[in-house]
Amino acid sequence: MQWETVIGLEIHTQLNTVSKIFSGAATAYGAEPNRQACAVDLGLPGVLPVLNAAVVEKAVMLGLAIDARIAPRSVFARKNYFYPDLPKGYQISQYELPIVEQGYLDIDLEDGSRKRIGVTRAHLEEDAGKSLHEGFTAMTGIDLNRAGTPLVEIVSEPDMRSAKEAVAYMKKLHALVRYLGISDGNMQEGSFRCDANVSVRPRGRTEFGTRAEIKNLNSFRFVERAINFEVERQIDLIESGGTVVQETRLYDPDRDETRSMRSKEEANDYRYFPDPDLLPVVIHAEDIEAARRRLPELPDAKRERFISAYGLSAYDAGSLTASRELADYFEAVAAGCNAPKLAANWVMGDFSAALNRSEAGLAQSPVSAEALAQLLSRIQDETISGKIAKEVFDAMWSGEGEADAIIEARGLKQITDTAAIDAIIDEVIAANPSQLEQYRSGKDKLFGFFVGQVMKKTRGQANPAQVNERLRARLQGD
Ligand code: ADP
Ligand code: MG
Repeated sequence: MQWETVIGLEIHTQLNTVSKIFSGAATAYGAEPNRQACAVDLGLPGVLPVLNAAVVEKAVMLGLAIDARIAPRSVFARKNYFYPDLPKGYQISQYELPIVEQGYLDIDLEDGSRKRIGVTRAHLEEDAGKSLHEGFTAMTGIDLNRAGTPLVEIVSEPDMRSAKEAVAYMKKLHALVRYLGISDGNMQEGSFRCDANVSVRPRGRTEFGTRAEIKNLNSFRFVERAINFEVERQIDLIESGGTVVQETRLYDPDRDETRSMRSKEEANDYRYFPDPDLLPVVIHAEDIEAARRRLPELPDAKRERFISAYGLSAYDAGSLTASRELADYFEAVAAGCNAPKLAANWVMGDFSAALNRSEAGLAQSPVSAEALAQLLSRIQDETISGKIAKEVFDAMWSGEGEADAIIEARGLKQITDTAAIDAIIDEVIAANPSQLEQYRSGKDKLFGFFVGQVMKKTRGQANPAQVNERLRARLQGD
């Protein structure tokens, strides 16, 4: 039996407003527990929520970026359940009338093709608090700093067919919210997290199978592993005569497996109803146009521009636009050295490799775009070769200063003086008479040997093109 995987994702993104969605308390991460929870967040009697306008603007920008319908009127609803970290006994969310509906995101697949993933809806809601288990015995601590933090929940259509596609979609959405500047997307801090709905069906069948929902995945790697585990589990279950039950599961990264949390029978009945404390959100056409004007250049458009303006391949343009920071960095390097392809190679190559090794973010890079541009300009004007440039780059990375200073201090300038190169070639030829004879009697491969010797003698500083040209002439006995 051939099985097909079906996946739909629900992604919670924290919006990066200064204050909470319905109160003036700060949203900053990492404060001492309960220092950023005001009377509204605590759900004290007699308080009323007031909607933060910035939250609405950010949701509209997201809706426009995914080509969705922005609801002229959306409604907040109470989602009722009981949990210690939810002081009011309900979460304010949106239910029947969300702010954003029917958008899509195009993802790039490994074979180079694109696939459109539908976005069913995106709605606004408040986050809950956190239960703290560490540092307490026979007790649980409750931290309500996160209560009331603005979230947008983005629900996809069940359009993905593999864990890889799900990760591609999640990455694309992650890049998008960061491009838009509506979320910091910090996954360690929970600002971007995902519930994955997974089912399998015999290939060719049109109805979907029963799904399991894996909650709270906060890394791309976990999403991929959790889905792959879950697909195997469901297939094994069905093939051994069982049936998949609709349930909520949790992924355990230490054991790399998913475990049942609650079945559909135990699922909460949320008793949604419109929140009488809040007015409907009314959005006018002018508001939408104002938000549209604030949209930055989006990843797909930037990628197209990188292809047409800089002559980059689709693959390179895709890599460089994967994050707005990297794209900006590349553009600054390209402008500074006036050599976009060279800039692209270095930014994706040595620069990204060094960044990965250091585990630092781009913002902490010890080599600024201007500094890298100066280095690449020295390759362009033939002061140094590409190979020597790597040595200079390493020195720059470890804080030895700017390219020009390092080239000067280490005496790395390329030798382009023909007479000097000829002299070294003559020395090399004189020192290797038998190789010379073999070369002249037809062993062409030895040309590389001579090039190597000359480069070695000049510590890599001879201009490689010149060495090739002069050496060929000399070896032929001209
Ligand atoms: P709920 O509100 O119970 O979570 P929804 O119908 O809103 O259910 O679906 C939630 C998510 O589950 C959506 O992303 C949707 O695409 C996905 N989904 C629905 N049915 C399936 C299925 N059979 N297999 C995989 N994903 C599914
Ligand atoms: Mg759900």
